[in-house]
Amino acid sequence: MNAHDFPALAPDLEWITDSTRVHKYSQDFNWYSPVLKRQLEGLSADVVARPKTQEHIAKVVSLCSAHGVALTLRGTGTGNYGQCVPLQRGVVLDLSAYNQFLGLQDGVASAQSGIRLIDLDKAAKSLGFELRWIPSTFRSATLGGLYGGGFGGVGSITYGPIAAPGNIISAKVMSMGIEPQVHTYHGLDALLYHHTYGTNGIVLELEVAMAPSTAWSEFLVTFEDFEQALSFASDLSVGSGYVKKEVALIASPIPSYFTALSEFLPANRHAVVALVAPQSVAALKALALTHEGLVTYQKSAQEVQASQRTLIEYTWNHTTLHALKVDKTLTYLQTGFNPQRYREQVLELQKLLSPEVMMHLEFIRTKEGVVNCSGLQIVRFTSEERLEEIMQIHRDHGVQINNPHVYTVEDGKAGGQLNPEILRAKDRHDPQGLLNPGKLRTWSAPNAI
Ligand SMILES: Cc1cc2nc3c(=O)[nH]c(=O)nc-3n(C[C@H](O)[C@H](O)[C@H](O)COP(=O)(O)OP(=O)(O)OC[C@H]3O[C@@H](n4cnc5c(N)ncnc54)[C@H](O)[C@@H]3O)c2cc1C
Repeated sequence: MNAHDFPALAPDLEWITDSTRVHKYSQDFNWYSPVLKRQLEGLSADVVARPKTQEHIAKVVSLCSAHGVALTLRGTGTGNYGQCVPLQRGVVLDLSAYNQFLGLQDGVASAQSGIRLIDLDKAAKSLGFELRWIPSTFRSATLGGLYGGGFGGVGSITYGPIAAPGNIISAKVMSMGIEPQVHTYHGLDALLYHHTYGTNGIVLELEVAMAPSTAWSEFLVTFEDFEQALSFASDLSVGSGYVKKEVALIASPIPSYFTALSEFLPANRHAVVALVAPQSVAALKALALTHEGLVTYQKSAQEVQASQRTLIEYTWNHTTLHALKVDKTLTYLQTGFNPQRYREQVLELQKLLSPEVMMHLEFIRTKEGVVNCSGLQIVRFTSEERLEEIMQIHRDHGVQINNPHVYTVEDGKAGGQLNPEILRAKDRHDPQGLLNPGKLRTWSAPNAI
């Protein structure tokens, strides 16, 4: 018995068996990395299951457990690290139809994991709230996918990453097994299933703390001088009186890749993308003046809504996407600066590596509450060896590399350091090692010799 036999055993579920479509559902945005593209190209599951209910999910889990078949979870496949690419065939569980908004009370929203972030945000906005962080892929990405594979995004400048204490209230998790079990975990225990690529449990539902809904104005402020642009972005991020949702520094020549915005982006100037609340608009403009910045684009929330265009889709990894659309030979880095000396580190690395490495900084508040910048630098790719060298130069300058050119949880994050409780959670929920096998490098089966 193998995965190809499952559709006949569970005919009440929607299955995809056509190999071309199955392959499509087995891929994500790993092609941003020439290394991952080479390693993961062609990998595919045998079949895709599309559950709509918890009973459907339990049925697939039970079949995989009974027959020792690999199960890889998927939201909508916008992850960047081959997170939902099955290394050992089996079943891809597409959770995007398991997508109910379950309610919002006392500033906490709850929803099934397959809900698209845009739908959750809309539902919350009608009740006076919004998500604390959205990835730039908010239109298509799911809540469970962001939780399983993401970090945070637009909004993290105020609320920190997803993992900042207070953001996640609870996670309802299903275990693997012929008779799957469901448990709800709170606070730090819930975070054991965050950014683990769906390897240690199936997140069914999440309760997340929300922010008050705000009518964000969107800005492009451009600068001739890189250091002035950095100071402006940094001052806006640090200044406690500015109510903001996004601050990104996009160094020249990256703005030239934003072809649809070219009329707002004068040549050879660095750009800062900022989203601020209406009461902070005047203060942002005053700050721009002190740094010799020109406001070249300003839209109120109403104008943004009417135009259907948001600058959010020019930030985070959308910045890279716009560049890749123009030049397919580019790739990128993910870096974490030192909050005590990020200005100095940024200036040193800009001097050392520009134009081979083009600076793109996202300003965030860390889990500990201090302002820092995290880099999504764009790299002119020449060889895998040179890419390694560039990452080592960053490490040598005290900059952490969250390597986007590897597909295991450990290697992509925190330099191989993993909370051992994450592995214990896998022991409990997936003792057979069927969930996304190959992605949790340091785990071995509890009874393995
Ligand atoms: C253009 C672009 C921009 C991006 N911007 C951002 C950004 O701003 N911030 C950010 O954090 N990320 C960003 N990302 C990465 C990615 O979009 C986000 O992580 C996104 O939220 C993933 O959602 P998804 O539904 O596509 O997940 P998928 O890619 O389908 O899945 C991601 C991982 O989560 C696991 N998973 C999915 N559902 C569940 C579940 N229910 N339970 C447990 N595990 C599960 C999958 O197995 C996989 O390992 C970006 C990517 C791209 C391509």
